Amino acid sequence: MSQTAAPAPQAAIAVEGFENLYQMAASQFTRAADTMNLDKDLRVILSQPKNEIIVNFPVRMDNGSYQLFKGYRIQHNNILGCYKGGIRYHPQVHLDEVKALAAWMTWKCSLAGLPFGGGKGGIQIDPTKYSADELQRITRRFTHALGSNIGPDFDIPAPDVGTNGQTMVWMMDTYVNTFGAAHKNVSRHVVTGKPVSAGGSEGRDEATGRGVVYTIAAWAQEKKFDLAKATYVVQGFGNVGSFAAKILTGEYGSTLLAAQDHTGTIHNANGIDVEALFKYAIEKKGIAGFPGAKAIERDDLWKIKADILIPAALEAQITSKNAPIIDVKLVAEGANGPTTPKADEIFVKRGIDLIPDILCNSGGVIVSYFEWTQNKQGESWYLDEVRAKLKRRITDAFDRTMRVKAQYKTDMRNAAMIRAVDRVSTSYKERGIFP
Ligand code: NAD
Repeated sequence: MSQTAAPAPQAAIAVEGFENLYQMAASQFTRAADTMNLDKDLRVILSQPKNEIIVNFPVRMDNGSYQLFKGYRIQHNNILGCYKGGIRYHPQVHLDEVKALAAWMTWKCSLAGLPFGGGKGGIQIDPTKYSADELQRITRRFTHALGSNIGPDFDIPAPDVGTNGQTMVWMMDTYVNTFGAAHKNVSRHVVTGKPVSAGGSEGRDEATGRGVVYTIAAWAQEKKFDLAKATYVVQGFGNVGSFAAKILTGEYGSTLLAAQDHTGTIHNANGIDVEALFKYAIEKKGIAGFPGAKAIERDDLWKIKADILIPAALEAQITSKNAPIIDVKLVAEGANGPTTPKADEIFVKRGIDLIPDILCNSGGVIVSYFEWTQNKQGESWYLDEVRAKLKRRITDAFDRTMRVKAQYKTDMRNAAMIRAVDRVSTSYKERGIFP
């Protein structure tokens, strides 16, 4: 039996002006805290996550050898409810990255008015390099290693980059067989983002992309801007980017000019057939080579003039380097943390609006909350009910953010953070600090 050691945790990836992504996330919190004059003790309490869980676990590969993996689960805050957040499988997964993503979940759930706190997890692997059987064993062993650190009324994972509904079913099945054998069917809400056949909610697969579009629609209404005449560009054509495009074009009539994923960047000045691209990307596992558009250089994506830019891939994609050349009216953050604070400042100066991640992509966790609620109550809601409830909740969060923006005369990112921090700080003030 051969065994491959777990990869040494790679050095944190520096983000423009910060040593790592967590520092960037913390700076957004500090800015909001300064603007709202937040109590200094609460700043201390909220400056670090509550729990940082790191597990190393061995998994048998298809060739009979064993490999050791390192998995993370960060539980940032649970004053408002259970820890809640996705599981990421990506080669760049790092402790500081997961901490940042967990913190953003706390603020996202708070802003959306959900009874959830924030968490996030992941494994530093490239999932495309493993067979489906290996991924299943990795996921089950990771879930087992996490043990009672997750649970349906304690910490509830969901999909994120590199994971999907299948990953969630493996997690659920492992969890209920380990802990809930006698109550198998009442613990299914240990994860959300499950396929409908395994207890998932109608509309969860499209939820984040649909939420992105609902926030864009709320912005367009505010600006009296006709989305049927709008053009847009999307970076990332996975779960979030592809559904956002499908809905923005299919239901609102906007035109997709360019798209980028890890396989390539494509452009068509006359508009890309989104339905055809959606099917192509699933079949070919990427958008490169799509016949209805021409290939362009990666960096040229940012030069394309359009009304809306939807970053829906990874963090820190928009920096002070490309923000000055981005020629759009609105940036709608499908991804978490795609824009650095320096790029934020450039957009504010240039009069480019930005719908921040904790608002823009909250549709995923909102419908995860619906899934969790349905599982707890043994209910199954219709798709039109899910969509209507999502629209109401995310539009409400948008309106509240706009009110705070006007109150503090600030930008939308800071306004959304202030609203989110305020709900958490109110809860701390009511409950006090134990003991
Ligand atoms: P996904 O794995 O389904 O898709 C990720 C996409 O990004 C893929 O198209 C991939 O090719 C592309 N990509 C990866 N590296 C890239 C690179 N260097 N340049 C260009 N494109 C690249 O993941 P997803 O679930 O769509 O998540 C995308 C973003 O949205 C992440 O920031 C995630 O945290 C965030 N998000 C996801 C959800 C959800 O419900 N899935 C909810 C909220 C936020």
